[in-house]
Amino acid sequence: MTASIAYTKPSITELEVSYAEDAARHGWGPKCYDYIIRFEALFREHIGTSFGIATSSCTGAMQMGLKAMGIGPGDEVILADTNWIATAAPIVQLGATPIFVDILPDSWCIDPDATEKAITPHTRAIVATHLYGNLCDMDALLKLAKRYGIPVIEDAAEAIGASYRESPAGSMGLFSTFSFHGTKTLTTGEGGMFLTSDGELYEKVLTLSNHGRDRQQNKQFWADEVGYKFKMSNLQAALGCAQMERIAELTDRKRAILHAYKAELAALNGISMNPEPDHVLSGAWMPTVVFDESLGIRRDAILSVFRAAQIDARVFFYPLSSQPMFQPVPDNETAWSICERAINLPSFHAMTDADIARVCKVIRDLLAV
Ligand SMILES: *Cc1c(COP(=O)(O)O)cnc(C)c1O
Repeated sequence: MTASIAYTKPSITELEVSYAEDAARHGWGPKCYDYIIRFEALFREHIGTSFGIATSSCTGAMQMGLKAMGIGPGDEVILADTNWIATAAPIVQLGATPIFVDILPDSWCIDPDATEKAITPHTRAIVATHLYGNLCDMDALLKLAKRYGIPVIEDAAEAIGASYRESPAGSMGLFSTFSFHGTKTLTTGEGGMFLTSDGELYEKVLTLSNHGRDRQQNKQFWADEVGYKFKMSNLQAALGCAQMERIAELTDRKRAILHAYKAELAALNGISMNPEPDHVLSGAWMPTVVFDESLGIRRDAILSVFRAAQIDARVFFYPLSSQPMFQPVPDNETAWSICERAINLPSFHAMTDADIARVCKVIRDLLAV
């Protein structure tokens, strides 16, 4: 029997193990924040922002950032309909309204024209999710931000290693969030990061992240407001420090896998993959194939051939507005159409050329029917 191919898995070396062991043995008492402080510094320096706060998840980082902006009931936040639920959940949890707009057909990221049309007097933020490591059209979004005075926030959970006109993903918005979930390019098991270069916003989120306890406050067990407990542990940060020492290796490998797929599949008609225009360096988190509408190849058929080949490919995100908690917005035609005929291909550090060839054969067979 052939071995199955996972869709993603982390790359854990002796370095990660030794740091985690050190944190487990020694990272307590006065040392209980050492790896956290180091990880925050390594990460924010890598992306190029002034401030960073390690969090328990990307979702928590997003919720605190939006909360610190004062977003709440009556406010609207615009985001792409194609998104992981984690991007919308914090908006809903704060009592604000997510406004779902369509995506661009090539990058699968938020459409700036659709975004502009969705702006109302209630719009408080635009969330740019760099889907699958592809980049949003940041020039257009930042122009809107300027014209309307509405900040752009980057959900860069999937975009470590990506950059736009030499600016790293996560360095361009008012704030950005990253995820270190086990499926992401850099992992701490669970975990996330809030990044910003806005000192005031940073202080607000820092206080929120520590149960509303201002860092100037020296009274013990005294909170200044009701906040959150969304902190990363020193143990997780130890893993993160090791992964940061290997960050170039981790992101280069992701890109190499995307390019290997593209090289093998380039000759095929009727499919498209993660675009890499000249001004964009893709983070290549999820190599994705979209089949042209005219081919009639649909999700269930795609999934069943991958399952038969024992390859754990994943469906393209369903539009959030197609899910039961929200009002459907089928006018987001691109978002509603692409998810019916696309697939995320496996991509992980230890993947072999033979694995990649096996995945490509499934795509070729699908197109040959
Ligand atoms: C993974 C992911 C998140 C959530 O990350 P968590 O760390 O699990 O909270 C948010 N947004 C996007 C686009 C993601 O892919």
